[in-house]
Amino acid sequence: MTPASSPQYRRGTVCAAVGVLLRRRLICHALVLASAAGCATGDAQQASQERPPQEYLRSGERALDWTGRFVALGERPAGSAALRMQSKLIARSLRRLPCDVSVDEFTASTPLGDISMRNIVAKFGPLGAAGVIVVSGHYDTKALPGFVGANDGGSSAALLLVLAERIARHSAIRVPVWIVFFDGEESVVEWRDGDHTYGSRRLARAWKADGTAARIRMLINVDMIGDASLNILQEGYSDARVRREVWRIARSLGYQNSFSDEIGYVEDDHLPFLEAGIPSLNLIDFDYGPGNSYWHTTEDSIDRLSEASFGIVLHVLEEVLRRASAL
Ligand SMILES: [Zn+2]
Repeated sequence: MTPASSPQYRRGTVCAAVGVLLRRRLICHALVLASAAGCATGDAQQASQERPPQEYLRSGERALDWTGRFVALGERPAGSAALRMQSKLIARSLRRLPCDVSVDEFTASTPLGDISMRNIVAKFGPLGAAGVIVVSGHYDTKALPGFVGANDGGSSAALLLVLAERIARHSAIRVPVWIVFFDGEESVVEWRDGDHTYGSRRLARAWKADGTAARIRMLINVDMIGDASLNILQEGYSDARVRREVWRIARSLGYQNSFSDEIGYVEDDHLPFLEAGIPSLNLIDFDYGPGNSYWHTTEDSIDRLSEASFGIVLHVLEEVLRRASAL
């Protein structure tokens, strides 16, 4: 996603009672204002210590294990041998499941020249079906010295793999679900002039061109959802109806703190799909460490993550899929 300092990125805390958007640097003031106005806030201090049911905790542990395996490969920027290894691990695991797996290898033109990238798609359900729900995330990491992206890149890939495993076992999920792993989300140099979201832009373009976009009911993208202090913001570019529905479900499951009241705008892999007319939501915790200070640093290590956070997001996503299946 975009750097906090870039013009594309806006983040703040909204207090519904007074209807103001306050920028990140004013969050302390926002909290004072919010409490004076009697409305809820989703600040880091309130961040989740919530626990999902045992079943999801166990799946969360599995996601944490996968993250550890990815992190052990080292730095995994687009085009690296380590990321290629990770893509093989992901594709091999998916091919054991009852789904259609495709790997789209393509060449992206970047400020550092042509880079080979791979999107991976696993389709559950009849291939020609309509009403598809897509759950996506990126698996590449930002090219920075020593950066292994446990949360940023690792957590999304791990959660998607475990979600695929769970869907394969779940008879209650009857909607077609496509799980998508994007390459090239991170900028190669700097998040501007199209130097970002290479994989998602390519897939959204293809789905728009061949009519697939019209068969997709919604897309939910996950990013940085492993933080032990889970605080998923209400991402403002996202489709408002999908966001409201997902928050309603999360709260019905008791995850009031993990699914925050805070509004923020983060450019990410969901934007190309919104532009393609697909109702899309970005689930991102962009409050990683004090003042988001672990983001894009060597502090983004596996000890900052928790099985509970993975479990909570898995639980909510599955409930979304279950309720869609009942309609
Ligand atoms: Zn990143």
